[in-house]
Amino acid sequence: MKWEKNLKSIIEENAPGNCHVCNSINTDYSMHIIDDKTNMGYGVIWCNDCKNAFHISRIKVSPNMKNIPVPEGLKY
Ligand SMILES: [Zn+2]
Repeated sequence: MKWEKNLKSIIEENAPGNCHVCNSINTDYSMHIIDDKTNMGYGVIWCNDCKNAFHISRIKVSPNMKNIPVPEGLKY
């Protein structure tokens, strides 16, 4: 998984870090809780410059994680 470092960075530092494709720091992420009891949900990490994105199908979402609108036109 190429976005593994970015996911690790979100979990540890609440920021995705550099894009692994174009090395831009202009990256972002959003997490959506599906099950309130377990805080399990899904997430998306993306780069605002090259529009590459990664869908996380299953993740335990922490309360401090962002839940913001995901931009259109991302390349998964
Ligand atoms: Zn990029």
